[in-house]
Amino acid sequence: MSASEYDYDLFTIGIGSGGTRASRIASGHGARVAAAEEYRVGGTCVIRGCVPKKMLVYGAHFAEDLEDALNFGWSIEGKSFDWVALRDHVQKDIDRLEGLYNETLENHGVEVFHERARITGDHEITLESGRVVTARYILVATGARPHVPECEGREHIITSNEAFHLDEVPRRVLILGGGYIANEFAGIFNEFGSKVTLANRSDVLLRSYDEALRDRLLQISLTKGIEFLFNNKFEYIRKRDDGALDVKLTDHDERVYDVVMAATGRVANTEGLGLENIGVELGPRGEIKVDEYSKSSVDYVYAVGDVTARVQLTPVAIREGQAFADTVFGGGDPVAVDHSCIPSAVFSHPPIAAVGMTEGEARNRLGNVKVYQADFRPMKNVVAGRNERGLYKMVVDAANDRVVGLHMIGPESPEIMQMAAVAVKAGLTKADFDATMAIHPTMAEELVLFK
Ligand code: FAD
Repeated sequence: MSASEYDYDLFTIGIGSGGTRASRIASGHGARVAAAEEYRVGGTCVIRGCVPKKMLVYGAHFAEDLEDALNFGWSIEGKSFDWVALRDHVQKDIDRLEGLYNETLENHGVEVFHERARITGDHEITLESGRVVTARYILVATGARPHVPECEGREHIITSNEAFHLDEVPRRVLILGGGYIANEFAGIFNEFGSKVTLANRSDVLLRSYDEALRDRLLQISLTKGIEFLFNNKFEYIRKRDDGALDVKLTDHDERVYDVVMAATGRVANTEGLGLENIGVELGPRGEIKVDEYSKSSVDYVYAVGDVTARVQLTPVAIREGQAFADTVFGGGDPVAVDHSCIPSAVFSHPPIAAVGMTEGEARNRLGNVKVYQADFRPMKNVVAGRNERGLYKMVVDAANDRVVGLHMIGPESPEIMQMAAVAVKAGLTKADFDATMAIHPTMAEELVLFK
């Protein structure tokens, strides 16, 4: 078949972060593009991930801000919190963003099908409605979904998908998991006044982050009243007539909760997509195996974002979508995404941010490293009487003075880290940081004042 004999040059399955970017850039390069979305345009990040989550984090933080305001001379009488008002405001803004995503695709000439799509043959896609179309290239950008552990009463467990739509703030909530979503929602519910228990099957939280920061977050979270249960698994969950949930974890007595939420990892959305019809190879966790240009084992099928389980973050999916479109339709040299040194954050209370190697990784990989640390109480916390300390850590390769890792916990650390990550990615040295004048008084100045 020649290119023009296909209905489209590109058919994108899934219009989330990666699918949107790939579709509109491909169209900009002159390709005839169609895309299908089975739920809501914008995908996980916009509809039920990063964006609504961050809005809840902002909403939750007022609990502390209003307390802290007292020592700054403000008295707030009769303060109260209305979950439904916040929830509905957030959802209204999500509707607005979804509209903008649709508009962008329309403006770029991308034909959008609001229905599920699957691959039914060579270059062939069948839509839920039964319509069959063909495309020269197929991009799978179907993302991932929450994994819910197997156990009796599994159907009573909610995930982050449902957490945004609760009718009320649960009085008692059990969160399963130890990753960033578990810790973020633990902080959110705790600030809203829930009694939060976080149960993890190991005794390690936030595995990929530096140990000193993980430990600091644990200490602060305990002080704030979050309970942690380690090294346990679910035995059962039983619903009472009044809706409350009796939960049994290994080595613990039965306890009652109003909501049980699983944040126990995310699984690539590859089932029922028809990938087996054309021989697309999957990895051990069901993810699509791709090369550095996001090409699958089938020449005309590409995959980007969470469905490839490389690094499951929005900016990564977007970069992969852009690189795919430039490579296949841009007419220039192929573009690979550099997956090294990706900064990331946990929007806990307080937040964590990191880039590069942890101290442990650096010691294993480089041997001789220097570690600098600033353990300080931010000025605002001092005035507020909030006994909460920040911790910044710099890991330096002793052989050449290069900064190979930066790790921070404290107010606004993700905002500070975004810029500091440029320096680490660029391979700057500790001496370069030292040569930069501080901005005083800030928390970020600690980064150029390490002794
Ligand atoms: P998605 O955005 O998930 O898009 C995939 C789309 O494909 C979905 O809309 C889905 O409905 C659709 N789809 C699936 N199958 C089909 C089919 N057969 N036909 C048609 N459509 C289909 N990342 C960050 O960088 N920062 C954060 O702070 C952050 N917070 C998060 C918080 C939560 C609670 C969650 C769940 C995720 C968070 N993430 C965060 C991760 C981020 O949302 C994902 O990495 C990102 O959305 C991945 O983009 P994607 O394009 O691969 O997939």
